[in-house]
Amino acid sequence: RFITLEGVDGAGKSTHLQWLEEQLAATGARVLSTREPGGTALGETLRELLLTRPMTLETETLLMFAARCEHLRTVIEPALADGIWVVCDRFTDASYAYQGGGRELGAQRIAVLEDWVHPDLQPDCTFLFDVPLEVARQRLENGKNLDRFEQENADFFQRTRAAYHARAQQHPGRFHIIDSTRSIAQIREQIAGILAQLRP
Ligand code: C5P
Repeated sequence: RFITLEGVDGAGKSTHLQWLEEQLAATGARVLSTREPGGTALGETLRELLLTRPMTLETETLLMFAARCEHLRTVIEPALADGIWVVCDRFTDASYAYQGGGRELGAQRIAVLEDWVHPDLQPDCTFLFDVPLEVARQRLENGKNLDRFEQENADFFQRTRAAYHARAQQHPGRFHIIDSTRSIAQIREQIAGILAQLRP
């Protein structure tokens, strides 16, 4: 099974990642936890470039998919073929949201690359951690060292969030929207319920 975590920066997905893995592992499942951009040695190098260097939108999008392709072929696909559960912190929905929506490249251009890199693979389950702008800002300000996406303005945030919602509407079966303004306990309860339905 392939599970992805998505959401705008500051939505709190990283708070729940490790707990989610532990829940799965407790059922006896073998679990591989990974992230995008990154997940491979080459991917982590691309991540460093993506988060720090100015570049054109097309280059950014292509590098995201280059990192993703390497990640899929060398890590994700072999693990899934081996019966391992893969939990991935961001995947192609993030490209629809950030490059497609936030940076206004449009969904169609992302769809072309998705079709090129993984025409036959989609996550089985996607948790979309969702918060309004004010809450995300507050959470990000509590941390330091914002990367170049986290420094973007409110309009960028709203476009990115809206693009995530559009993806969720187009794929209602696989998306689960998590209202991330609630308490950690309430969120865990919701996630646990969804995971219970996924188990064989
Ligand atoms: O999830 P994480 O915060 O580690 O992601 C690193 C950064 O890369 C984030 O600021 C995220 O907004 C950005 N990103 C992006 N496009 C993607 C994936 C991640 O802009 N497709």
